[in-house]
Amino acid sequence: MSDPAFRNLPPVHVLIARPELQASIGVRGRDAVLRAVRIVLDRVRETIRDDQATAPTEDALTLRVLEFLSGDRPRLRPVINATGILLHTGLGRAPLAEPAAEAVDRVVRGYCNLEFDLETGSRGHRTEGVSDLVVRLTGAEAATVVNNNAAATILALRTMAFGREVLVSRGQLVEIGGSFRLPEIFEVSGARLREVGTTNKTRLSDYERAIGPDSAALLRVHPSNFRVVGFTESVPIAELAMLARSRGLVTIDDLGSGSLGPGSPPGVSGEPTVAEGLSAGADLVLFSGDKLLGGPQCGILVGRKDAICRVSSDPLMRALRVDKMTLAALEATLWLALDPAQAARHIPLWRFLTTPLATLHDRANRLASRIAAGSKLSVDVVESNAFLGGGSVPIDPIPTAAVRLGPPWTPELGSEHALARALRVGDPAVVPRIHEGCVLLDLRAITLDQDESLADAVLRLVARRPYGR
Ligand SMILES: *Cc1c(COP(=O)(O)O)cnc(C)c1O
Repeated sequence: MSDPAFRNLPPVHVLIARPELQASIGVRGRDAVLRAVRIVLDRVRETIRDDQATAPTEDALTLRVLEFLSGDRPRLRPVINATGILLHTGLGRAPLAEPAAEAVDRVVRGYCNLEFDLETGSRGHRTEGVSDLVVRLTGAEAATVVNNNAAATILALRTMAFGREVLVSRGQLVEIGGSFRLPEIFEVSGARLREVGTTNKTRLSDYERAIGPDSAALLRVHPSNFRVVGFTESVPIAELAMLARSRGLVTIDDLGSGSLGPGSPPGVSGEPTVAEGLSAGADLVLFSGDKLLGGPQCGILVGRKDAICRVSSDPLMRALRVDKMTLAALEATLWLALDPAQAARHIPLWRFLTTPLATLHDRANRLASRIAAGSKLSVDVVESNAFLGGGSVPIDPIPTAAVRLGPPWTPELGSEHALARALRVGDPAVVPRIHEGCVLLDLRAITLDQDESLADAVLRLVARRPYGR
């Protein structure tokens, strides 16, 4: 084994001292990187022995170790969201508040009183704690929680109208997030969809005329991810509820996003609130726990006691119920929501919405000068638009500041797509926005304590050549 190719291989301690791998140690830990170096070196020795290959350069070996590390990690991992989409469905919608994350941490390491009454020592109800809080927050008679708002809609339709008709305006037959399509939701629920009115105009008389012996409910769906402008007309929920009651029907209000009140969250205006739906007379109001509330993914049902009771005792509830992690996170988020000042301070979504533009500008400037100092990229700061997203509130842009990278792209820097890809597969993963041939790092959905690792992630890539494909 005196092959010179073997002698040209750097020893482990030399490779591990490379700055790129030292940076990886900071993120992944020394053991993981050491293991990757050993495995890569073993594989290289094998190809030298079997194929008489020559020894790769130190640069090439380092790249192989980095590649190995990027394949050798959990599929689900944290991401720095530089897209400017606050509720990015692909990136897990709302980040949890610190107290919510701590609450999850507290209950998952051991046992908890999920369905156990500590007072009496007998069986308890899993959603009792959160239901009480939701009732306090909304003024509803009763409340319960399921896995998401889609589940809430299916359960509401099923328990209120199985095998019977539910009337919906043609202007509200929404698709949300690609897989929530109202007609398909109806199919799985067992209730029959009866369309009334037209795409842009639906009047109370349309509902009145369509009500028949098979009708069980009127459903209002909040078109939360689009707006119809121009000549439009829809029936206010109060009028729908009044009509429903006079004909012995049930009113279901699918709010989707679910604002708990004006300024909840701050900066989001014109959204129908849960309390409005209830005081208008809806029997059931459905909303999401993670869209505007900024809690864990779940669907919250509030309304009349007997309606919630029917929902809770449906056999399907068993399949759609939430687990202890969701309950812990939701309970902590609801506690925060009881005090809007606390909510604005702790719930990341609310904080993102209230960060002054000037603050984002300052941070962007600091980031930009750090990146500019360490790279040949053309770097500046631009004003742009961020969006709430996630099928929550249609189109209102939120002013934001972003660090803009490139062009012109040198051959070694590839393209905006190559840089974006390298950022996405890096450690930590950064998902930027590509805009007019540039890579934008939008600060609206990035916390202050992520700025440093964001700058490091970019600098590491820009110093490493070549990257991307
Ligand atoms: C978002 C939304 C849903 C689906 O909620 P998920 O929590 O994503 O399942 C249903 N209805 C409306 C009106 C929505 O906006």
